[in-house]
Formats: sequence, C-alpha cells, structure tokens
Amino acid sequence: MTSLFASKVLLPGGWADNVRFSIERGLIKAVQAATKPLADDTLAGCVIPGLSNAHSHAFQRALAGHTEQRSPAGHDSFWTWRERMYELAGRVNAEALAAIARQVYCEMLASGYTAVAEFHYLHRDPENPDKQDAMLQAIVRAASDSGIRLTYVPVLYERAGFNDPEPAANQRNFAMTLDEFLAHRERATGYGSESIAIGIGAHSLRAVSQESLLEIARVAAANNAPMHLHIAEQQREVDQCMAAYGRRPVRWLLENLDVTEHWCLVHATHMDFDETVALAKSGAVAALCPSTEANLGDGLFPLHDYLKEGGRIAIGSDSHISINPFEELRWLEYGQRLATGSRNVASLRDSHVGRELFSRSLEGGAMACGQSTVGLEAGAPADLVVLSDDDPMLAGHNDESRLDALVFSGYPLPVERVMVNGDWRVVDAMHVDRDHARSDYAATMRSLGAVR
Ligand SMILES: [Zn+2]
Repeated sequence: MTSLFASKVLLPGGWADNVRFSIERGLIKAVQAATKPLADDTLAGCVIPGLSNAHSHAFQRALAGHTEQRSPAGHDSFWTWRERMYELAGRVNAEALAAIARQVYCEMLASGYTAVAEFHYLHRDPENPDKQDAMLQAIVRAASDSGIRLTYVPVLYERAGFNDPEPAANQRNFAMTLDEFLAHRERATGYGSESIAIGIGAHSLRAVSQESLLEIARVAAANNAPMHLHIAEQQREVDQCMAAYGRRPVRWLLENLDVTEHWCLVHATHMDFDETVALAKSGAVAALCPSTEANLGDGLFPLHDYLKEGGRIAIGSDSHISINPFEELRWLEYGQRLATGSRNVASLRDSHVGRELFSRSLEGGAMACGQSTVGLEAGAPADLVVLSDDDPMLAGHNDESRLDALVFSGYPLPVERVMVNGDWRVVDAMHVDRDHARSDYAATMRSLGAVR
C-alpha cells in the first residue's frame, strides 16, 4: 500500500483541497478530501489525472524535423511527406522500433500523458520479415520499459487504394490478409495485462476493403475492444471515397457500420455539417492531433459545431513532432480562433476553455483507450500527474483558471512527478529511465543513418 497526500487535486467533481489517496496494486483504493496527511504519506502540491494519448505512430518520432525543407518539385503535401515516412518505415527493424518507442513513451510520460493508444501497422521487421510478431513485441517492451499504460491497436492495411486491391511496394511491410491480421490480433491478446489492453483497427477506408472492415468491426464489438481508424485526413481521400463509394468517408461509415462509443475516428478533419452532427450523435470519439494536422497541412476540424452537438474528442501526438498534451489542446483552440476571428471557441459547457478541453479529452482519451474509468476516483488506476505548485505558470491562479494556465501559458510544463499503475515513472521532472532511453535512441538514430 502506498499513500499520497496532495494539497490540491482535480477530482471528477472538480478541484478539492487536502486529499489523501490510498493506492494498492496499481489502483486507487480510497480518496479522502479535506483531511490531514499521515506519517508515511508522500506529499505533493497539485495533482491532476494523466491524459491518454489517443493516437500514436511511435516510429515517426525518428522523422520529426527531417521533412521541413522544400523538395525540388516544390509541391510538398501530406502525400510527399508520406513517401518520406514510407522510406523510414522500410528501415525500422524491431530493435530500432523498441528504442524509438521507449524514447517516445518516456517523453509522453514526462509531459503528462499516462496512457497511449499505439496505432500499429508496421507488422513486419524489414530485416527479419518471417519473425512473427517481432514488431508487436518491440512495442510491448517499450511500453513496459517506460511504464506507460498501453492500448495496442493492431491495424489492418490491405491495399494501396479504393481501386487498387494490392499494397504498393513500399507498403509490403504493413500488409496482411484479413486472416493473418485476425490471427495476429488474437496472439496480441496474450500480451494483455493490467497495464496493456488490446484494441483493433483498420488503417482507413482506402486501405481496407468493405468486407474486411465489417469483419474487424464485428471482432471489436464481440470483444468490447476499442475500434480505431483514420477517416478523413485529406481532401484527396474524400474525393477518392466519393468516386469509389458515392459518399464522403464519414457519411459512408455511418451509413454502413454500427458506429458506437467504442469507435475512435482519427482525423475526422473533412466533414460537412450533416456528417459533423451525425458523428457527434453516434457517441464515437474523434481523435484530434492538432500539431500533426497542422504540420501535414490536413485542414481544420469543425470543432464548435461538433462539440455543440455533444461530440466526444480525444487528442493524440500522432507523428510526434510535438509531445505535449497541453500544446495539442492549445492548437486545437487556436486553429478555431484563427479561422473564425473569435476567441474561446471551445467553451460550450464551461466558461473556461482550458478546463473544458482538458475534461473532454480526459474522458474521450479514456474511452479511446478502452478504459472503464475516467479520472481519479476509488477503483480507478493510479495514473496521475503531480504539478509543482510553485511554478510561475501556476502562480496567481485559482481553481477556476489553473487548467487554462496549463493549456495557454506556453511555459515549459510544471510536471514534477508522474505515476502510472501505482509506480512513479517521472521524478523531479525527469523520467526515471531518461538517460538510458536517450542514449539508446541516439545510437538507433545513428544506426538508421540519414533520414531521407
Ligand atoms: Zn495516424
């Protein structure tokens, strides 16, 4: 049994003072507010629940900062970036993936994420293509070495496009048949534990046939597993879907599948108003990755209309050009401000935007990761973040504005300690394994050679 006493804690009902947590076997056993510390308690200032990172491609961390120069043709877009990403993906073996993912997960923890949904389609080690599940094992090892809570989302990638039933040459390391994929997913369930959950996913409507998508959705529903897919990241995808299926992607999905709160639609960027309303009413979670969506020139999600209709959101760091949940929330709101010439766009049920974005992404992130509880309550996992309450970012703030300060102040984050499943993974603002993770990552980047 561990115990923690904090002077200020964000509980599901709001901020509370002088809160004592009893923690046993990774779970919060009891929460008592307005109390006094006991002799063995670890003392903390301000405690908030950890956020879930609802969308990650860990290997893409190795590409961050390498795709920001104009190509000779001068027509750079998501699709030219994707060629660079495929080039890297073709060279990341299981050992490299484990080192890159561990570094990414350590960075996530140090910035206040306590869980991640890893959307994984690099199913084959390019150097040992016949070694079954080596890439899955690399992700599991990285999660357990870093201590982050993992939802492994195996993803089917079947084909190059709506009318192209075979994968392209640079997609071969991703591709599986439906049967191979379902067998892989079944084996992955063997890695499940109190801190590893198994979801399921389809890469996108263009990369998976209708028949396969229906079967994946059936398996998700039968196993109560979160179901993830990329849905409408780029206008070109919308045009291709219109040409092939006669519907926009979100519209087609909602008409042809039973989309429920177990679904996580990543990059539902391009929706018309009717799709926005219908997706919100489905109860599904829209996973938004504002820093990556800006970096790739994807477009802006119709946030205000979606939230107004009761839509659920989560955030993800996706390509990991930034690993900072508060920056994702900031840019989620800033994109809307820039587009509409107004302020405080995402404040619909709470007059404080930072507080509203935090609570919505806490709930949506937990759902996208398949967690049954949200926030710090008895029976929930002991996944929490201690903020240093003497940090200038928080000075002068009260219960009303503290989360606004975290989202909009833009200072280095005041994350002092992070606990996942009852274990401290970040202490004194550093991941406990930071130096090993960094040196392995640097050696891996050297061995990968030039990222082209
Ligand atoms: Zn993605």
